[in-house]
Amino acid sequence: MTQALDEPTRLAMRAALEALDERLSTLLTNTESAAQQVPLKENASRLSRMDEMHNQSILRANRTVTKNRLMAIQKAFARIEDGTYGTCLECLEPIALPRLHAYPEASLCLACKAAGEASS
Ligand SMILES: [Zn+2]
Repeated sequence: MTQALDEPTRLAMRAALEALDERLSTLLTNTESAAQQVPLKENASRLSRMDEMHNQSILRANRTVTKNRLMAIQKAFARIEDGTYGTCLECLEPIALPRLHAYPEASLCLACKAAGEASS
């Protein structure tokens, strides 16, 4: 099977994935307690409660995005191992390197990603 990426690029992307994995895992750990149901302050005004709930819902949404990225990163590690990393899962064309640098966990090329988002 032909590698989509040459060896140095493959190793660089694996390092990028490892760094990203570490960074996002740390982020999840650090936001863990803040995402728990905060015992709302007894005397907090209605407005500050709403503020707090709003902030918390944003934080939770961000954490969901982060968790999904971490899962995608795990899949990307597997693709690095089996040599399919850097190839679009949809059209089997190489994924552009600038895209991989921006999103090392990307499994689709930009065109397929855009097509997927348009249809969903
Ligand atoms: Zn594609």
